[in-house]
Parts: sequence; structure tokens; C-alpha cells
Amino acid sequence: MSEPEILYMVIPCYNEQEVLNETASRLKEKFLSLQERSLISPLSRVVFVNDGSKDDTWNIIKKLHSEHPEFFSGIDLAHNSGHQNAVLAGLMTVKDICDISISMDADLQDDINAIDEMLEKYYEGNQVVYGVRSARKTDTFFKKFTAESFYKFMKAMGADVVYNHADYRLMSKRVLQELANFKEVNLFLRGMVPLIGFKSCSVYYERHERFAGESKYPLKKMLAFAINGITSFSTKPLKLITELGFLMSILSICAFIWAFIAKFAGFAEIGWSSTICSIWLIGGLQLFCLGIIGEYVGKIYAEVKQRPRFIVADFLNELGTEFINDAGDNNKNK
Ligand code: UDP
Ligand code: MG
Repeated sequence: MSEPEILYMVIPCYNEQEVLNETASRLKEKFLSLQERSLISPLSRVVFVNDGSKDDTWNIIKKLHSEHPEFFSGIDLAHNSGHQNAVLAGLMTVKDICDISISMDADLQDDINAIDEMLEKYYEGNQVVYGVRSARKTDTFFKKFTAESFYKFMKAMGADVVYNHADYRLMSKRVLQELANFKEVNLFLRGMVPLIGFKSCSVYYERHERFAGESKYPLKKMLAFAINGITSFSTKPLKLITELGFLMSILSICAFIWAFIAKFAGFAEIGWSSTICSIWLIGGLQLFCLGIIGEYVGKIYAEVKQRPRFIVADFLNELGTEFINDAGDNNKNK
């Protein structure tokens, strides 16, 4: 192996005063052991992103940085922007100074011993390594059920996510640079990273209980997160409307036939046949038309996101990859 590379760990923190010192000391130990084994460069850092905390979080981060600037850095966001934005803020701030990034929650629920394997996979040539929970023994039944339903529902709704993978992941500098070209405001990193592509793999770990403090993801926030994930990644709900409209129109033909039989067999009240036929037909047509409008809305939605249309991983030519990468970026293309 050549020179060890620079790792930046990005840790979003929102009201995490109870856990920060413990998280910092465990990460410091981890970094020391990784540096000893020349897996990471001594220039590596842990970056805590304070996401507008109302408690002492930022003061603790400042103290950690002043005591051990060789391990800890801090980013202070001007206001609470939410978990996904805090992670992105950290990643985008470090993308030019690191070779490798790992994002992880502050509460030590993700096993930091998985970092070794993540790095191993990175040095084997993977650009993205997903941390995947192998078991949820410590989660309550309710958390386990809602979380697992979340992944299944996302998949059914057409958003491609890695099952049981949250935001514990390694990304190379190259991937971060491509991520920077995704300009969308409704962030759902779990859906965006698989879209980028490149060689990736997963490492498995057991999820622990929150070390201290409370979850900042109550059911209400989790539902909002799921809805954001689906509506940011899939137009399937719109397609479902078209399909339903089509089905209703077919059913209206059945209603027609039934109404005619009833009329001519003589067991229909006067006016019933025409009423039942129009209800079904108009209902079906309306849904169908809504679905067509939905298809256009879906296209507009894809356009306004201005996602890169393609990402070139390699270009075998003495000119190198630089100039062709620009072509993938919509914004530079105008
Ligand atoms: N978090 C954040 N901003 C928020 C909410 C949460 O930066 O508005 C951070 C939080 O400090 C933690 C991570 O996101 O590091 C995940 O939150 P939490 O552990 O509460 O979620 P859970 O693991 O219960 O799903
Ligand atoms: Mg947590």
C-alpha cells in the first residue's frame, strides 16, 4: 500500500451534549489505532457539525478542538437545518481536503469498529462503502418495525435505497465531488449516493443502543423523512394515479354492460343505468387525466432537479477525464 490517505469523519450533532465527549474519546482512540497501523494519515480529522443545537454542544466541540486540534475540527451551522443537511454541510466542507470521508451519527449507535473494514474495502478499490445493520436487537419492536417497513415501502415506491443502511457510510473524494453536482434542496442522501454509482459494497455491523440522550427522530419526523424520500426520488405515486384511472375506465365498461343487462332484463329503476354509467366513466376519465398531468409534473420535477445526466468514471485518453466531466454537469452546460 502507498501513503496512507486522509480520512475525515463527519458527525452531525443536534443537542448531543450528553454523548459528545464519549464519542470524541472513542473516536480518538480509533484514530490512534488506525494511524499506528498506517491505515490513515496523521492529517485525518473528526469533524463535528453543530446543527443549531440549543444546548452546550458547540461549546463542547470548541473545547475538543482547542484541546486536540490534531484530532477534532468543528463546523457550526447558523441554524438547525436537519440531519441530512448537516451531513451534507460537513461533507461539502471537507471534500477538497480529504481523500476519504465517513459520515456517522453522534450517538455511537453505529459500531465504530466497522471503520477498519470500511477502510479495507476502500483500499480494495471501492469508492462507496455502506454500513448496514445486520441486526436490530437493541431497537424496540416499534422502532424495528417502523424502520424496516420504511425500507420496504421505499423500495415498493420506486426509490432505490440500500436495505437497513442509514447514513453511516464511507465515500471517496471522487464520490464527494460528484455529489456536489447534485443541486437538489430536498435532500435524501441514502437515495442520492446509489444514484452516483461507482464501485461500492457493504459492511455489516450490529447497531447499539443510543449511548445517552434521546432520539431526534420520533415517528412524526420519520414519516416526514419517508415521504420526502419517496417524493424526492420517485414519480411512482403519479404513475399509480394513471394506472388507477385506466383501471377505473375499464371497470366503467363492465358497469356499462351490467347497466344494460339490468335495463333490458327489466330490474333497473328508471335513470339508474345512465347514472351508474356516468359515475364510473367520469370518475375513471378524471383520474386518468389527472394521471396524465401527473406524468408531466413528474417530468418537470426531474428537470428542475438538474441532476447530472451521467457521471464519467474513467476516460482512457491522454487528455484525461477532466474536460469530459464538465459535460455531465447540467449547470456548466448552459
Ligand atoms: N441530527 C442533526 N440534526 C437534526 C436531528 C438530528 O444533526 O435536526 C443528528 C443527531 O445529532 C444524530 C443524528 O442526526 O447524530 C441521528 O439522529 P438520532 O440518533 O436522534 O436518530 P435515530 O438514530 O434515533 O434515528
Ligand atoms: Mg441515533
